[in-house]
Amino acid sequence: MAEIDSVKQKIAQLRDQLNYHSRRYYVLDSPEISDSEYDALMQELKKLEESHPDLVTADSPTQRVGAEPISAFGIVNHPRPLLSLANAFSDEDLDAWHKRISNLLPGHDFDFVCELKIDGLAVALTYENHIFTVGATRGNGLQGENITQNLKTIRSIPLSVPEKAPLSFEVRGEAYLPKDGLKKLNDERAAEGLPLFANPRNAAAGSVRQLDSKITARRPLDTFIYQLGWAEGGNLPANHWEIMQYLKSLGFKINPHVTHCRNIDEVKEYFHGWTDKREQLPYDIDGVVIKVNSIAFQEELGAVGHDPRWAIAYKFPAVQGTTRLVDIGINVGRTGSLNPFAILEPVNIGGVTISRATLHNEDDIHRKDIRIGDWVLLQRAGEVIPEIVEPIVSRRTGDEKVFYMPKTCPECGAEVIRIEGEAVHRCTNTACPAQALESIIHFASKGAMDIDGVGEKLCQSLFEQGLIKDSGDLYYLKREQLLNLERMGDKSVSRVLNSIEASKQRPLAQLIFALGIPNIGGETASVLVQHFSSINSLSKAGCEQLMNIPSIGPKVSEGILAFFRQPQNTAIIDKLRKAGVKMESAEGLRKDLPLSGQEFVITGRMESAGRPELEAKIRALGGKAGSDVTRKTDFLVVGADPGSKLARAQSLGTRLLNEKELLAVLNDAEARLK
Ligand code: NAD
Repeated sequence: MAEIDSVKQKIAQLRDQLNYHSRRYYVLDSPEISDSEYDALMQELKKLEESHPDLVTADSPTQRVGAEPISAFGIVNHPRPLLSLANAFSDEDLDAWHKRISNLLPGHDFDFVCELKIDGLAVALTYENHIFTVGATRGNGLQGENITQNLKTIRSIPLSVPEKAPLSFEVRGEAYLPKDGLKKLNDERAAEGLPLFANPRNAAAGSVRQLDSKITARRPLDTFIYQLGWAEGGNLPANHWEIMQYLKSLGFKINPHVTHCRNIDEVKEYFHGWTDKREQLPYDIDGVVIKVNSIAFQEELGAVGHDPRWAIAYKFPAVQGTTRLVDIGINVGRTGSLNPFAILEPVNIGGVTISRATLHNEDDIHRKDIRIGDWVLLQRAGEVIPEIVEPIVSRRTGDEKVFYMPKTCPECGAEVIRIEGEAVHRCTNTACPAQALESIIHFASKGAMDIDGVGEKLCQSLFEQGLIKDSGDLYYLKREQLLNLERMGDKSVSRVLNSIEASKQRPLAQLIFALGIPNIGGETASVLVQHFSSINSLSKAGCEQLMNIPSIGPKVSEGILAFFRQPQNTAIIDKLRKAGVKMESAEGLRKDLPLSGQEFVITGRMESAGRPELEAKIRALGGKAGSDVTRKTDFLVVGADPGSKLARAQSLGTRLLNEKELLAVLNDAEARLK
């Protein structure tokens, strides 16, 4: 085939693909590929068309914005087209854009307005005689859908504006669903067996483009206005920054993070700052939009194709991708839970290669209808383990298999059960090797026996070498055995042995937690210490005695009784006792510990120690360390980047402590104990 024919064929193929995905995305609000995959196809087509300008056609996806509007809504003609935005994916792309506009307007310095690129749906709002009359989608840029009734249900859209506003004008902005609104909507859809929305943009579009505005009214939609489309009458400011302040004074909701940047370096600083901070926002953004500030310059620069030259969208690295689910693996946890995980064909998302993803439990897999062999949409958010958003049902071939949990443990072959009312499946064998290793890792971890230097990796190699079979064996390790391990020098061996020795003196509550008794977290362990002064007395407790303790229910009591009935568990306790691990509470049954009756909750990152360590300290001193702020919480300890607990505490009037103040409280309590 001649080269030109193969280019023509490739172009036709790319246009078909882009048209197909554009319809799924804009019309059906149900994409099958991630935005970065779509962008990559678009870039490929753009490159081919650039080198073969004679092959560009007016209906090529590179020349069009969005998709045709649906007539069921009624069509609105846009007096000035609603354009798309060119993209930048790196500082180099941004510099190239800056150079392009500088060449077009030589001898001028530009200043810019930087805005967050809200992941929602573009809307145009027309006001006539100061009254909101027409609200429309972008549609194909020239014609959009009339969604006035639906937009009127959004509280942040003013239905009228003050007299000082131009007589008639149009503003443009983004309608969006905040993160918690999207989660709630998807939870409701999952419960009703409806397909989930793959991203915030499709959820917003699906909510606004409803023929019944009562449905829209039930969705927690919001808006940010980011542009004045056109205006008749009135004196308008000469730059975008002032126009934004002016729109705010008319009652429109403007994003609080809009920033005036004096030069391109400040623009880069803004973008990179938000790359790190965006997770903290209550809504999703997929980049930053950079606009030339001067309206006169904007008009001179104009547009090329469907993108204005005076603005650019600098996109964040991708968070979604598609790949194939090759298989579902099972990992057996410390408490015997069988945790399914996705084994994926490796895929690069935003520079990170992903080949595994979490799959919480069998119910969740069935709820999302994920089958082995499916193409799936995958999502990566911050440091969180990637997860499967949904299967791409239209790509099924019929060979996909429905997944069921195995009837026997993949590690030891013992029977697997599912306790009624629980979502997890469990291996019934407490001597299961997978459980044993996880139990040892937990035993040595922070908040439990806190054995510095004995982390997951060391536990694993000790276990694999057969040097330890349970946590009791840690106390019988010999220097020579440790020296024989890879990467263990004299110094690190001494450190490990010293910290194992030091752990023998940990408070009783930490030991109880470290043993890994089912359903006993650090908090319950502290409660038990208030009633039992040693492991011996706890092991002899009867059901009634346990149930008499106010916060202990039947599930916890049953767990304790079952734990001490297992001979392998009592054997571990014997080993610990013989090694000299302290088995009694130093304080006896003192109920008057310095922090008794006081409840602390920690939020945000602590600098001096990890959260589990600080919580263990609070408990050892008699305090309660809760996970949620309630009316009973006495203190909220606030670290760096606090979560939503801070707002809750403020609304309840809970006392706030910073980390320094908490440490002072702990030191003071320790001093009183002595
Ligand atoms: P775009 O989303 O890249 O940029 C333009 C849009 O940005 C505007 O219409 C507006 O809605 C929005 N925006 C948000 N904040 C803004 C602000 N402060 N100022 C100005 N605009 C702001 O371009 P597009 O043409 O709307 O759509 C292309 C996007 O849609 C790409 O990301 C593409 O990947 C995605 N897409 C995906 C698929 C798919 O199948 N996954 C299909 C089609 C399109």
